[in-house]
Amino acid sequence: MAPERTQGVVLAPALVTGAAAETIHNAALAWRDGRVVYAGPAPRLPADLDGPAEVVLRVEGAVLPGFVDCHTHLPFFGWRADEFEARLAGRTYRDLQGGGGGIYRSSRLFAEASDDEVLAFCRPLAAEMLAHGTTALELKTGYGLSVEAELRQARLARRLASELPQAASVTLLACHAVPEGMERAAWVEEVCRELIPAAAAEGLADAVDVYVEDIAFSVEDLLRVAGAACEHGLAVRCHADQLGGSGAAEAAVRAGARSADHLNHASAEGVAALGAAAGTTAAVVLPTSTLFLGAAPPPVGDLLAAGAEVGIATDFNPGTSPCLSMPEVVATACALYRMPVAAALAGATRVPARVLGLDGDVGTLEPGRRADFVVLDSADPAMVAYRPGHNPVAEVWIAGARAHPDGSARAHPDG
Ligand SMILES: [Zn+2]
Repeated sequence: MAPERTQGVVLAPALVTGAAAETIHNAALAWRDGRVVYAGPAPRLPADLDGPAEVVLRVEGAVLPGFVDCHTHLPFFGWRADEFEARLAGRTYRDLQGGGGGIYRSSRLFAEASDDEVLAFCRPLAAEMLAHGTTALELKTGYGLSVEAELRQARLARRLASELPQAASVTLLACHAVPEGMERAAWVEEVCRELIPAAAAEGLADAVDVYVEDIAFSVEDLLRVAGAACEHGLAVRCHADQLGGSGAAEAAVRAGARSADHLNHASAEGVAALGAAAGTTAAVVLPTSTLFLGAAPPPVGDLLAAGAEVGIATDFNPGTSPCLSMPEVVATACALYRMPVAAALAGATRVPARVLGLDGDVGTLEPGRRADFVVLDSADPAMVAYRPGHNPVAEVWIAGARAHPDGSARAHPDG
């Protein structure tokens, strides 16, 4: 393979920049030092960008910004396929969680695994994400469920992030489930008084997330945790209205959260609040989680009509969404939610970059952004949404360098 360069030009039959709505045909994307310097029609490529020092590559497929997966539950350890079978036989997710399964089971598996075992489990999964075009992702805690174990999971997330070619952002989801044998209010206090300050002091997290649900935490807990996050300079996220409606979408907007995620049971008020909060609080929908749980779909059409920013993500986790492919969630969002393809592609790139606070860097292909892009195996960007089960990503480039298909951690040009 040719030596990796961090400057070059790719000429493509179609380019989706994410900065403009329409696809550019007969396009060029140019970068220097890993950053985009031109994204537009090939005939208008400035001549001085096309000099002999550049790598000029002509591709047959469409070029898109790399996918940004803004809701995953990596790092975790172990699968729960038997719970899926139990749900198919009639058990509910609430039943399993109540019986010590679900999040509690993943928490035990995480506690029993060594750091090396957890990392060895997660590395190939991150590589598989890369092969499906994910060039930036979220890593979350939430399987620790004690101050020490949450800090351990956050440290492992940071360690994994340092090894990956992808950009990554770490979210503390200590309020994922109430630790067994503990009162909910006591855990929320411990999270606010001990965990958030400790994680912030060690630089372990970028955001804090709360699972608002009748089997988990309340709207008041969200507001309390959001206050503590804010004091320590951390962003806020929210698992909102997934299994039932609790006014969490509106509360996420009130808390100034970057996103309200799931939204299967969001109310009309929640939809209106998210419409008015575009640019601050995005609506993140998780289509494979809806599919896997057989849940009611979120009001995606209403959200788009209300002007909400709609992001889509995998929710990759061993219980309710074992899917890590962004093309698959784009295809599912379009088929299941009747989402227009262009909106789904923006929802998989530009919107989630902002949710992760990485929007100055990734999510669109425009001057100044990192040259993180995918080359499809087709010249038509709509093919991403059209062939579920097929990986349409032929090549993945990060900061203007081709990522190895096995995801092996090549040194990142930005360090
Ligand atoms: Zn989640």
